[in-house]
Amino acid sequence: MKAVAVFPKGREVKVIDVPEPTLRSPGQVRVRTLEVGVCGTDKEVVEQKHGKPPEGEDHLIVGHECLGEVVEVGEQVKNLEPGDLVVPRVRRPCPRAECAPCRAGYSDFCVTGEYTERGIQAAHGFCAELFVEEALYLHPVPRELRGVAVLTEPLTIAEKALREVGHIQTRMPWEKKEGGRAVVLGAGPVGLLGAMALMRAGFQTTMYSRSPKPNPKAEMSESLGMPYVSSKQHRVEELVKQRGRADVVYEAAGVASAGFELMKALAPNGVYVFTGVPGGEEGELDEGELMKQWVMNNQVVLGTVNAAPEDFEAAVADLGRFRTKWPGGLERLITARHAPEDYAEVVTGRKGSHIKDIIVFSRG
Ligand code: BGC
Repeated sequence: MKAVAVFPKGREVKVIDVPEPTLRSPGQVRVRTLEVGVCGTDKEVVEQKHGKPPEGEDHLIVGHECLGEVVEVGEQVKNLEPGDLVVPRVRRPCPRAECAPCRAGYSDFCVTGEYTERGIQAAHGFCAELFVEEALYLHPVPRELRGVAVLTEPLTIAEKALREVGHIQTRMPWEKKEGGRAVVLGAGPVGLLGAMALMRAGFQTTMYSRSPKPNPKAEMSESLGMPYVSSKQHRVEELVKQRGRADVVYEAAGVASAGFELMKALAPNGVYVFTGVPGGEEGELDEGELMKQWVMNNQVVLGTVNAAPEDFEAAVADLGRFRTKWPGGLERLITARHAPEDYAEVVTGRKGSHIKDIIVFSRG
């Protein structure tokens, strides 16, 4: 069967022919890949800034944002059957007995760093015609979400972040007068999906992103009812003047300088959520000023990665709600669909579209 793999040694990404996987234990499921999303992490994997092939192999089958259709189930699998749509989780637990989060099913909080991630870290991904997975790591998706469910995994990042913010903010026991304000940094797919989740949770949300208006991401933001402010046209001080300070800042740009600059927009008692992984730029920080701001304002700076099973369930439920709240909105986030043969050009941006690129394996 066809698969897309990165070969770190030759710095190559190409379509290869690999044997079809088969069930090896009764708790497994064989899945036909329908669609795979391409994101910034994939670019880092291809550029060898992040991730690695499985132990002893010279290549990694890429792809971690996946929608598939069940074709065969092992005899112990009771919750899935052929024809069901599923989204797989990405991370698998480390083997260490002392890793309490992994042992409890929360490998997103793994403390040893010995976890694997399909399509990223030492485990093959989903950019292949078929894959086999334990039923435990597959989340069923209703058929009506067929066209958009490939967005589930990037949405889980926001679901986990919102859940964490909710826990943190129980530190404020008084009744809130209003739903609160949020600013999202970066109008890419993670930012836009995060913004939708924040709006759904009742936050008045503003998108703050680089490109000057007009541009397709600004149009997308505004069509969802979210004002778009360009950081090239308006400094953070002006953003605050226009929109007020934010109870939640959701960073989804992966650029450290822009992320720290926006710290000024955080309201007292606010939570600043970092989700991006920066590519190693250097900046000038006023550490004293930042520390004083955090302490004097009871602020929380939160880093968050990956997601738990309940975040996948929340994401599937939210995709359904988003379709009712913004008819056609999710569909418009997916700005191009490509063949597996185009993966290398898409991931490097040569053939990328302006919001979300998807690789199509089967139209079934
Ligand atoms: C994925 C996460 C993963 C992270 C780090 C992100 O793009 O969505 O599942 O944990 O990269 O590898």
